Amino acid sequence: MIKNFLKRIYNLHVIISLAMLILVYFACKMTTTGLTNVYRKGFEEKRQLQVSGYASRMSNQLTVTDYLNSANRTIENEFDIVAEIYHGRIIVISSSLNVLYDTYSRAEGKTAINPAMIKAMQGENNIDFDWKTEYGSYAYGITGASSNSRLGVIYIVFSIEDEANTLRRIARNSNIFTLLIMIIVILISNILLSMLIRSSRKNKKNLEKISSGNYDAKLDENGIWEFRSTAYAVNEMLEKVKATEESQREFVSDVSHELKTPMASMKVLAESLLSQEYDDPAIYREFLSDINETIDRENRIIQDLLLLVKMDKKADTLNTSLCSMNEILEVVIKRVKPLAEEKKITVIFESYREIKAEVDDSKLIMALTNIVENGVKYNVDNGELRIGLNSDSGYVYITIEDSGIGISDEAQKHIFDRFYRVDKARARQTGGTGLGLAIANDVVKLHGGEIKVFSREGMGTSFTIRLPISSSTESVKIIEEVVK
Ligand code: ADP
Repeated sequence: MIKNFLKRIYNLHVIISLAMLILVYFACKMTTTGLTNVYRKGFEEKRQLQVSGYASRMSNQLTVTDYLNSANRTIENEFDIVAEIYHGRIIVISSSLNVLYDTYSRAEGKTAINPAMIKAMQGENNIDFDWKTEYGSYAYGITGASSNSRLGVIYIVFSIEDEANTLRRIARNSNIFTLLIMIIVILISNILLSMLIRSSRKNKKNLEKISSGNYDAKLDENGIWEFRSTAYAVNEMLEKVKATEESQREFVSDVSHELKTPMASMKVLAESLLSQEYDDPAIYREFLSDINETIDRENRIIQDLLLLVKMDKKADTLNTSLCSMNEILEVVIKRVKPLAEEKKITVIFESYREIKAEVDDSKLIMALTNIVENGVKYNVDNGELRIGLNSDSGYVYITIEDSGIGISDEAQKHIFDRFYRVDKARARQTGGTGLGLAIANDVVKLHGGEIKVFSREGMGTSFTIRLPISSSTESVKIIEEVVK
């Protein structure tokens, strides 16, 4: 039971409320003490001015009237009136510390031995406030007209009850104020804390949903301000996860579709061969060669897919070495030469010097072959294919320019997508899988480079590939980001 109680007590809500209360209480207490101290000092200064002024005036009168040697009723009357006003007592003492006059008429003829009086006699007037008894006292040394010696002392006791009452009132009001502030703080902190707790509970529920795979659940973007930026970041991340999931789903469905199509045409060919007896062996040969071609195509797709999947893996690192880019491009051109000759396409390689870069040559050859091959495949007969190689201090630039059919602006946005083909029928004819540029793009990105395309329909297409010369730390970082 106690444990349960402690558990309930030990929550953020209660802890923060208590901490706020203690803080506010001490802050208010300190303010009250400071305030009453300032007032008390003010009262004391005012009283000192008033009493010392009066004492010095009376000291003059006493010397003028030679009161210390012969008593004077008029002066004594004035003492009585002022003592009444001060709710106190006035005593006049001679230099031998004999009480000459006491408004209480109690000490006359007696000897007064009050330390304050003795001090005043020695020339040190002094005032004292006793806030417990609510009385103050002032001892003033009576000075003669000519000499500096003290002829006696005027000792005034005065009530400070009014001031003490004012101080008590200030303290009382300030206590009420403290209480009010504490209630307001508790109310406001409770409202804010409830909002905070509600917001965090809501987020907790949604996070549980998200962790169980429901990416449609979102964190509250309108909750407590501090939570908003986190909510934005998490929601953005969820959108990305959703987009990745979606693209993976699309990819899987595209893959199955792409693999099913050649299978279906093989099935049709095989079934028609089986269903009829053909006398002419040439027909069998033709059908079988069609089947053979379809198998080749299926193989190409599978190979490309395996390549893409391999490059998707984070663990896949490039096997780079310092390679001659001229040699790499010569290998690529040699590979596409037969196809180019078939279409009577002139291939021109423009390079003015040897350029070396740290690259994974086999992957780069594969990527460049895809792009250069496209320059032949999507070119017109008797067309031209220009390949340029250049560099600056940090990068290698390869341009592949064809005089082919070109790519529309809309299609240019998608040509690097997997399985995207502008003209599916034509691509099938040319043996395209729609994966060539996706692979090339992945390889170039892995190297920390980029591909840019510029094309006009009916005019031709130009690809520019930019690759860093060395796989410096910066490009390694880029590679790591791309692989992620
Ligand atoms: P494919 O295997 O079909 O060639 P790619 O990924 O290499 O696949 O290219 C995607 C599509 O982009 C092609 O189907 C083609 O429509 C278009 N394309 C690529 N390169 C060129 C080019 N040089 N000229 C015109 N179209 C091109």
